[in-house]
This record gives sequence, structure tokens and C-alpha cells, in this order.
Amino acid sequence: MQSHDVLIVGAGLAGMRAAVAIPSHLNVGIISKVHPVRSHSVAAEGGINAAVKPEDSWESHMYDTVKGSDWLGDQDGIEILCRFAPDDIMELERMGALFSRDPDGQISQRNFGGLGFPRTCYVADRTGHALVHLLYEQLMKRAAHVYEEWYVTSLVVEDGHCCGVIALNLFTGELSVIRAKAVILATGGYGRVYLISTNGLINTGDGMSMAYRAGLPLQDMEFVQFHPTTLKDSGILITEGARGEGGYLFNSRGERFMEKYAPNAMELACRDVVSRAEYQEIMEGRDVDGCVMLDLRHLGKAKIMERLPQIWELSLTYAGVDPVEAPIPIRPGVHYSMGGIRTNTRCETPMPGLYAAGECACISIHGANRLGGNALMETIVFGHRAGRYAAEYAESIKQIDFSDRVLEQDRERIASLMSRKNGERVVALRKEVGVIMMEHFGILRSRERMEEGKQRLKEVRSRLGNIYLQDRGKVFNLELIEALQLDSIMDLAEVIAAGACSREESRGAHSRTDFPDRNDQDWMKHTLAYQSDQGPRLDYTDVNITRIPPTERSY
Ligand SMILES: Cc1cc2nc3c(=O)[nH]c(=O)nc-3n(C[C@H](O)[C@H](O)[C@H](O)COP(=O)(O)OP(=O)(O)OC[C@H]3O[C@@H](n4cnc5c(N)ncnc54)[C@H](O)[C@@H]3O)c2cc1C
Repeated sequence: MQSHDVLIVGAGLAGMRAAVAIPSHLNVGIISKVHPVRSHSVAAEGGINAAVKPEDSWESHMYDTVKGSDWLGDQDGIEILCRFAPDDIMELERMGALFSRDPDGQISQRNFGGLGFPRTCYVADRTGHALVHLLYEQLMKRAAHVYEEWYVTSLVVEDGHCCGVIALNLFTGELSVIRAKAVILATGGYGRVYLISTNGLINTGDGMSMAYRAGLPLQDMEFVQFHPTTLKDSGILITEGARGEGGYLFNSRGERFMEKYAPNAMELACRDVVSRAEYQEIMEGRDVDGCVMLDLRHLGKAKIMERLPQIWELSLTYAGVDPVEAPIPIRPGVHYSMGGIRTNTRCETPMPGLYAAGECACISIHGANRLGGNALMETIVFGHRAGRYAAEYAESIKQIDFSDRVLEQDRERIASLMSRKNGERVVALRKEVGVIMMEHFGILRSRERMEEGKQRLKEVRSRLGNIYLQDRGKVFNLELIEALQLDSIMDLAEVIAAGACSREESRGAHSRTDFPDRNDQDWMKHTLAYQSDQGPRLDYTDVNITRIPPTERSY
């Protein structure tokens, strides 16, 4: 049996940053269902926020983040993010990150939504690509054991402690136990619970579902971020950097409609605000074939090619539009998971031995709405902390013995999937869940629509037991992986639905037509969802407010 001091599930930026932070005398394992550099972090485009200039301050970064979160973010965590961000950028730079530069040699920073200062450091519009490759080099140097293309099915828990995971080696089809004194979940977001999303197809929220099945609470899952600019049809992301560099949004009448919704910040209001505005324009018929238009033409070819080369390429390839010549058709699309596994500022979950960092964790930095550029920073600052605290814990305990119970359960789960002779296909069911989430739990929500959505989800849940796999092979059985991922998607869809139906207010990304206002009196609290036989059981807990008292939020 393989055994490690610290085992990290997920090799995106959070997982790799954690691995690199662990002292070299400890034995570290890191598992990923895809090659590490194919983790979704690699797709990040626009940049990473830190107050690195003397005219800026971490306090101002903190204020913008708290306001952006619609006062649902925990201020102790936000303070840590903003205080540590500048040093962590410098450390990335020392590792070799080639940030874009101003003519005087300083790190360039661009404007992003909801920022009071242009605070987003970037590498053109390929920031994630640059950082993932940088950390992969560091991971190689660190000589951790990399389980590449292994799929983790469950956590192993004994006496309330996490002591390892069950994982399927995709190459051999064998299921095994990997022991560890401490486990860090860094499994990324759940964007693919929705049919159309900017996220990679692998972003199915497995780590959150594993934690949920092991009895841990998922926090604030109803807060799903819709990004304002995703490309027509494909839903591919067009970075906020495009508006940060000066792009305008127009409706079919040629009006810069953000004047009506956010007269001060205009296109650079927070994502929830801009997405709702676009949605309203589209719903009220001022759309261009279901979209609004993002115009970059006035930036000129040279600037577009220098700062936004990938956006130029994506628009041309996937929408047939050259942004130098014509506006890009865009609309809001599912992008980011504000909620996740409840985690404190030391990245500890409520289960001893289990840590979480990055998009799968909810510390909560982003509250009801995340600011662009803060997710990458969170993976670095809190990935680092997760590595450090998990290492300290691993050094302080002995490996706990455990039974084969979970391994046997997962073997049976897979055997039962493989043995059915007929039934429904996974892809069709996954699509049904995705469509229900798009139609009933989108940008604007109401009790009636959500209750209907919950009934439809229940009906799909009742059919999961009929899934039939055509592929009976052991080697790279991706149909089997799809089926396991569908279990994660189903769990999370139900949790999002339950949290959204119960929260009778509008805050950040959660907007209800039947409760259009924020209600601090009754709803300034985090949702916690626990698994039960009757579906998600909800509880609530306080928001941590240390420095910035709630006020009205306008842009
Ligand atoms: C297109 C796009 C652009 C973005 N641009 C920006 C940006 O410019 N700035 C910004 O701040 N944020 C941006 N974001 C958000 C940000 O990139 C992510 O929140 C962040 O990179 C997530 O990092 P992570 O390490 O938590 O997870 P990920 O990078 O998603 O990595 C998850 C890892 O977990 C592994 N994994 C998952 N489940 C399993 C399993 N069952 N078994 C084994 N391994 C598993 C995966 O293989 C992967 O290695 C963007 C997001 C998208 C989708």
C-alpha cells in the first residue's frame, strides 16, 4: 500500500502550491485525474490581484473584496489574502513568473471589475498557463510522488480522522487505498454542474462531493458566479481583461447600457451586476441574436495583439469574428463556484487530518460574489498555507490504522455500474442535470421555478441506478469516470438547489425575483449543507465581520 505524510488531491495551482510549501523531509503524494498542466487553472486568462504598487494598499484590496462579496465574505480570511498577496506575487516572480511589464520595468497591472485601483497582475491573457507551468517546474524540483491520471473516488475516514483516499488508476483500472497522515483537497470547482460553462469538462466538483459524502458541510453553494462575457454558442471565456483594457458593452440599439445599471463603474462593475444587466437587456429584447456585443475596436490592433492575443484568436476561431474589425457577441455564462467545503483560515476542514484549498474550499473569501483576479490569488496564498499546516499536522501524529470498508464499498459501486446489461447512458443523464440547472437555477431565480427544478432533479436522481456502461474495459474507461463524476454533479446540483430555494433574499450572485433585496437582518449568514437520507439538510452560521461593517452596495 502506498503511504505518504501528506497526500494532495488535485494538481492545479492550489494543489501544486501546497506541495511546494511542504518541507522536503516529508513524503508528499499528489494525485490528479488529468496530467497536472491540464488542470483548469491552466485556462485562467486575465490575471491575479495583489496590491504591489506603493499607491495601492492591502486595506483597499480588502475593502473592494468585502464589498464585492456583498458582505458575505469572512473578513479574517479576506485580510489574510490581501496582506499576503504582494509577497506571494514577488515569490512567484522569484520562481520565474514572467509577468507583463510597464515601460519602466514594473509589473503591469490592469483594471478588473469591482476594483478601486488597477490591481490585476497578468501575463498577457494567458496568466494561468504561465503560472501552472511555473509551479509544475517547482513540483518536479520538489520531487513529490505524482499520481497522474488517477481518479479519487472517496476519502478514508477512521474514528472521525481522515487517513487517506481510495483511487482508481485509469491506466490499469485497479482501485487502491493510498494512506496519508494528512490529506489536502484541491480539486477545483463545480462549473460543469451546469450544461454550459467556461469550465473544463473535468470541473465536476468531485472533492466537494467526497467531503459531503464523508459528513462534512458544504458552505454557500447557492452562490454560482455567472461571468459577463462568454462567447456566443460555445460559452468560451472572454477575459474581464478585455473590459479592463477599455472594452465597451453595447445592446442592439447601440447603447452602452451599463450607464443605466452602474453609472460610475460602467463595464467594470462587479460580475454579478454586469451579468444581470446583460441578462435584462437580452430578456427585454435589446439583444443581438441572444447576445450583447463586446466592442474592442477602439483599442486598436497593436494593443489587442499585445494584451489580448488569445482573445483575438478565440473570437476568430470560435465565433468567426475578428475583434479588430467587429464587436464580439457575448452573454453571461457559468464560471465559478463561490461555495465549497467549509474551511477555516488555516485551511482546516471540520475533520481532523483533512484540509482544503483553492476553488473547492470555502474560507469564505468571495462570499456572494468573487472579484475577478482573486481566485488565482486565493490558490497561491491558501495553497501555501494548506501545505504548511497539513505538514505541521502530519509531523505531530502517527498514521492511523483503518479497515478496508470504504475500499470494498467503492469496489461494489464500480462492479454494480459495470454489471448492468441495459439502461440509460451517462452522457444523456448528465446533460439533463445540466439543462435543469441552467433553466431553474440561473441568473434570476424564483421559488416557483426552483421548486419545479427540484422536482426534475429528484426524477433524474431516481434514474441514476439505471445507468448502463457500454465500455466494459479496464484501461482508460472514461465512461466509468463519467458515471462517477455524474454522482458528484448530482450531489452538488441538489445542494445548490436546496440552498437557493431557502435563501429568501438577493445577495451577490443569488438574485431572486420574489425577494429582490438584500436582507441583512435574516440572511447575513452562511448556508451549511449536510448530506442526509432525505437530501441536503441545511444549517446556518455567522459571517465573520472584523473591519468593514455592511453598507449598501452600488457601483
Ligand atoms: C476559463 C477560466 C479563466 C479563469 N481566469 C481567471 C483569472 O484570470 N483570474 C482568476 O483569479 N481566476 C480565474 N479563473 C478561476 C481560477 O482559474 C480557478 O478558480 C483556479 O485556477 C482553480 O484552481 P484550483 O487549483 O483550485 O483547481 P483546478 O485548477 O481546477 O485543479 C483541480 C485539480 O483537481 C484534480 N481533481 C479533481 N477531481 C479529482 C478526482 N476525483 N481525482 C483526482 N483528481 C481530481 C484535477 O485533475 C485538477 O488537477 C478562471 C477560470 C476559468 C474556468
